[in-house]
Amino acid sequence: MTIATPERYAQMLDAAKRGGYAYPAINVTSTQTLNAALQGFDDAQSDGIIQVSVGGSAYFSGQALHDRVTGSLAFAAFAHEVAAKYPDITVALHTDHCASQYLDEWVRPLLDHEIDQVRHGGNPAFQSHMWDGSTVPLGENLDVAEELLERSVAAHTVLEIEIGAVGGEEDGHSAAINERLYSTPADGVRVARRLGLGERGRYMAAFTFGNVHGSYKPGVVKLRPELLGEIQSAVAVEIKAGTIPRSIDDGCPDKPFALVFHGGSGSSREDIAQAVRFGVVKMNVDTDTQYAFTRAIANHIFRHYDAVLKVDGEVGSKAMYDPRSWGSEAENAMAARVVEACRQLGSTGKALR
Ligand SMILES: [Zn+2]
Repeated sequence: MTIATPERYAQMLDAAKRGGYAYPAINVTSTQTLNAALQGFDDAQSDGIIQVSVGGSAYFSGQALHDRVTGSLAFAAFAHEVAAKYPDITVALHTDHCASQYLDEWVRPLLDHEIDQVRHGGNPAFQSHMWDGSTVPLGENLDVAEELLERSVAAHTVLEIEIGAVGGEEDGHSAAINERLYSTPADGVRVARRLGLGERGRYMAAFTFGNVHGSYKPGVVKLRPELLGEIQSAVAVEIKAGTIPRSIDDGCPDKPFALVFHGGSGSSREDIAQAVRFGVVKMNVDTDTQYAFTRAIANHIFRHYDAVLKVDGEVGSKAMYDPRSWGSEAENAMAARVVEACRQLGSTGKALR
């Protein structure tokens, strides 16, 4: 068993918050990048999260099918099979940003499938799913979150929500870089009142604090991780005053929310450390691992172009254009970036036994 059971996932999230570290959540789009993520977590002896995006799940099913549910379940089936051979680490599977237009063709059918798995005495294929309500008003965002949280309880999965809006571009969707990049303590209180703090189901919250997807030159992105501390404190005050109940006892009364950090690629060590201190337990890394993977392929092809290609009437070298030659280099490079993410987030060597 190296894919987390629901109980083990809850333990992982609590252990990270209590221990002041976070899990890299690595986006993958193929079995190669999935294997690279597993290799990286194992090298770091870190538990972790592996996730597929709305576009990644469709891509996983093949371009002809382009089906999100098929791709997600194929990803999960492959992960369950291969991860079982890494006995020292535990990995949770997650679906990333699901905006409202994809709920009916992606996350809702997956939850239905998992509710069925649980009904038959099994564990869910995934351990958590994200609802991205950043494009709808907060009230509507929380209406949907409430419905999905109820289904998540039945599916034995954890829900991730987004409050505010992550800027930048991902999966062909882009969001403005404006004041919505910063959520507020009042948003935090509103979320806790509406969704509870555990008694109605477990969820993680991505309160935005200036996050953007993608790579930017220094100075474009202004992260304010201290905002996460202000949000946690505002809710902790309400809990102490008895106006908001809280049922999860993870030993962190001052950090009621399990937080998620989006757009982790390219962030400074200080910003990451501060965010983790304020209760971030999951940080998404996509851009940097994408680059590490492709950089290694470019390196292989530029260095061996006359072996990879048939140049000037020559026949090239089969060993050099065999996809495994550049593929294994790409996987090793991406695994190394995953190891680096574990080090940044403090999860290295912390795999739960
Ligand atoms: Zn994101």
